[in-house]
Amino acid sequence: MSSELNRADAELAAGKYGKALRIAWNVVLDALRHKDVEVLRQAADLSTRIAEASSGKDREGAEQLARYAIASIDDIDNGTTQPSFWQRVLGKSAIPTKKCPDCAETIKREAQVCRFCGYRYSPSE
Ligand SMILES: [Zn+2]
Repeated sequence: MSSELNRADAELAAGKYGKALRIAWNVVLDALRHKDVEVLRQAADLSTRIAEASSGKDREGAEQLARYAIASIDDIDNGTTQPSFWQRVLGKSAIPTKKCPDCAETIKREAQVCRFCGYRYSPSE
């Protein structure tokens, strides 16, 4: 994990969600420049944990960041071009997510199979 993510993690542990989120944003934007999928994945995971721990505006922001990071991972995986940050955040392309009950990674809400661990959802889930 990058040192910046460790810092964000420490702020999260201290209950400073706004600060943790700001650091996480910087990590995501930096990882995007380098197309660093591993860091994006860690940042998405951290954002999900911030969202779970916080409430109100911090929670909204953290959920947004998690979605953005995951959408970016997909784009890099697919080799598609990167839409602008605001297109992603404000546009209709924001992808709803859910948390895998098996490995706790954040995945697309419509996914039938977890892309991280292979967990299979029953059709009713
Ligand atoms: Zn999983």
